[in-house]
Amino acid sequence: MTWQKILEGLKREGLVKVENGYIICSRCGFSVRLVNGEVGVAMARMYSHFLDKHRDDVLKIKCSNGNCMRLISVHLPEWMIRELERLVMEGYFPSRSEAIRVAVHQLIMSVRGGGLRNNMLVMGR
Ligand SMILES: [Zn+2]
Repeated sequence: MTWQKILEGLKREGLVKVENGYIICSRCGFSVRLVNGEVGVAMARMYSHFLDKHRDDVLKIKCSNGNCMRLISVHLPEWMIRELERLVMEGYFPSRSEAIRVAVHQLIMSVRGGGLRNNMLVMGR
């Protein structure tokens, strides 16, 4: 997992943006200069900024292969949870989380149209 990939993921999640040679925190505007396009040093500083100022948010972010995901809590009725767990046990999905991601993805696609390309949402309309 490289800083470059983490940066791409955080950009996609809207947690940081890169403008005029700076990485900028979307929460508070804190910025770190990219010296000679050196992402590692800047991202290490941005990461300690997140830990310092937005610790709760950072602890809810999971990144793998450049895909960063944020934890949210949802209340679901008991019967939905039971059915979700049955789908996982029967091997339709590797986890409840994955099943929920697929369901939310399908919901977004059915409302918005379009699809995913390189993990970016491409809107059909
Ligand atoms: Zn910040």
